[in-house]
Amino acid sequence: MLRVAVVGSGPSGVYTAQSLVEQTLVPDVRVHVLDRLPCPYGLVRYGVAPDHEKIKSLQHNLRTVLEHERIAFLGHVEVGRELTPARLLELYHAVVYCVGAARDRRLGVPGEDLPGSFSATEFVSWYSAHPDAAPGGFVLGARSAVVIGVGNVAVDVARILARGPEELHGTDVPEAALGALAASRVREVHMVGRRGPSQARFTTKELRELGAMPGARVEVDPADLALDPAYADPAGLPAVSRRNVEVVRAWAEPTGWEPRARTIRVRFFLRPVEVLERDGRVAGVRFERTVPDGAGGVRGTGAYEDVAAQLVLRAVGYRGVPLEGLPFDEVRGTVPHASGRVLRDGVPSAGEYVAGWIKRGPTGVIGTNRPCAKETAGSLLADAPALARRAVAEDPVAALRAWGLQPVEWPGWLSIERAEEALGRTLGRGTVKIADWPGLLAAAGQD
Ligand code: NAP
Repeated sequence: MLRVAVVGSGPSGVYTAQSLVEQTLVPDVRVHVLDRLPCPYGLVRYGVAPDHEKIKSLQHNLRTVLEHERIAFLGHVEVGRELTPARLLELYHAVVYCVGAARDRRLGVPGEDLPGSFSATEFVSWYSAHPDAAPGGFVLGARSAVVIGVGNVAVDVARILARGPEELHGTDVPEAALGALAASRVREVHMVGRRGPSQARFTTKELRELGAMPGARVEVDPADLALDPAYADPAGLPAVSRRNVEVVRAWAEPTGWEPRARTIRVRFFLRPVEVLERDGRVAGVRFERTVPDGAGGVRGTGAYEDVAAQLVLRAVGYRGVPLEGLPFDEVRGTVPHASGRVLRDGVPSAGEYVAGWIKRGPTGVIGTNRPCAKETAGSLLADAPALARRAVAEDPVAALRAWGLQPVEWPGWLSIERAEEALGRTLGRGTVKIADWPGLLAAAGQD
């Protein structure tokens, strides 16, 4: 028997577990999928926007994998502090780290940390009921919001800010966030890119959604678009960029005035240089107008534009977090590896692997994790004869308990699910997520 721990139960972790058990090369591989949280599914539960029901429904597929007879979920097990990578290797023949990229990237401009300026990650965690999320206050007192970045996370947070409460009522948004968003007086959302529409990172389906909300209209400034050399002739662009350009072009054309409660202004060629302050809080963002530099980047023009806002969300990408005891590439924000094998001083470390964002950086959609996980599982399975010779503990769960950990096993997670359904019923809604640690652990039967 080959005993493997997969650390992280998001898509990359679950797909890795699946690749390890659904193969015939090495019989009898047993996988424990560990997670710091008592709940599985990683960013599918705590990152995918609540109004993206179809993507959220991927949880059903992930669930089927976690219910495989040779896979077990062990939630509420944090790897890194007490439970070091070295200790894990005493319990398992191999460990695959699928811990994602949990930190937001920094802008590096003055005022970034003013009250009222948040990373999109903080905002997403709040409306996704992450138990470590900061308590509300995001939209309180704000009438205008600036979202910095033009990737899919920027689109998600702009859309949630512009949705009416009736559109979110049927989702699993926690009750406190729903109440705060219902009371929100944000009427303008500015989503701002430092480069042009042909270089934006969002995908077209996600972009189009912004224009399909009943209570919001999208505006694009034709002057921004005119700066993009590919705008006039998008024929040579990759398909996704060409489609993106077509969507923003349609928004820039004057149409009949349709009054809507909220406006989303999509802007381009504006680089943030300072988050502005008044009375100790965010008052707006100063941008420098940029122009293409001819090499895919932009250069500043020395012309500035201030956009007033009481809320700033920085959606400029994620970054991996170093895990104590594992090597880390500070420049790339990933763990160095060769085909998924963790490299220590350039040499593959016996029994240690990576998959997902901590392996390749925070790019791609959920499905990108499948081939990534498969590659790592392939490396591990090729190493299986040597790995199986390593001496490991008889019963890893007993060892974890002996070390003072209290894993939430699959029945505990199912209890949380039932408690969230019951909470939704009492609120006259569908399933409503529990947003705090004590509530989650109590629901899991760990009072
Ligand atoms: P992203 O796709 O890398 O986009 C980051 C954005 O921030 C880019 O527009 C980037 O501009 C900008 N940016 C970076 N540094 C900046 C700076 N210093 N100043 C101004 N702008 C800056 O990251 P993301 O939106 O966080 O998404 C991460 C991954 O998750 C992506 O693969 C995304 O597709 C995926 N995701 C998918 C979905 C979905 O499928 N529905 C939803 C959410 C996330 P430059 O291009 O100029 O660097």
